[in-house]
Amino acid sequence: MLNFIITGAPGCGKGTQSQLLEQKYGLKHFSTGDALRAEIASGSALGKEIDGILAAGNLVSDDFMIKLIGNFIDTLPTSCKGFILDGFPRTIVQAYALTQLFEQKQIKAYLLHIMVDEPEVVKRILKRGESSGRADDNLESIKHRLKVYHEQTAPICRYYLARNNYFVVNGNFEVEETFAQIDMLTALLQHAEQ
Ligand code: AMP
Repeated sequence: MLNFIITGAPGCGKGTQSQLLEQKYGLKHFSTGDALRAEIASGSALGKEIDGILAAGNLVSDDFMIKLIGNFIDTLPTSCKGFILDGFPRTIVQAYALTQLFEQKQIKAYLLHIMVDEPEVVKRILKRGESSGRADDNLESIKHRLKVYHEQTAPICRYYLARNNYFVVNGNFEVEETFAQIDMLTALLQHAEQ
């Protein structure tokens, strides 16, 4: 199995690049943001509870997110070639929990950080907001999400760097150029895994 944890600021292209990786390498893409938005769209009681949290650009509780990921890992089919976790971990507490979960299950995953300059991510999210219908794709939420990212999520990069498990690509380019870097890295890692 070849597994990735994909991270980076909101709007860095995690979802787009994960989809390309999924298509080319058959890795299962799991986006926590998409899973939460589907819960909200279902109109469930839980969805109603988390709706305001997402719209404001805040984070859903670690406990809830850790259960969500545990469930994803537990239900992976045995035929799975690997997975891409997109949007998790987003806090150091989640990173510790994921390390524990992986240790129990004897799973290895590489952290892939898509680094993009801040004015570029703001521009991209505002553009996405014209058609995404996402309640958090507006300037106020973006500024708050970036603050949350710097305070709570960026430290996970140091956590993986300290464990010798950190790869970074420059995501300031067009989709294809960014994917070319990820593609090369994935091919190398796949080769190393064999
Ligand atoms: P995303 O689609 O990755 O930009 O995520 C959208 C929103 O979902 C975030 O702003 C958070 O409110 C919530 N979310 C997604 N992943 C997590 C996570 N791992 N921990 C807490 N909240 C999350």
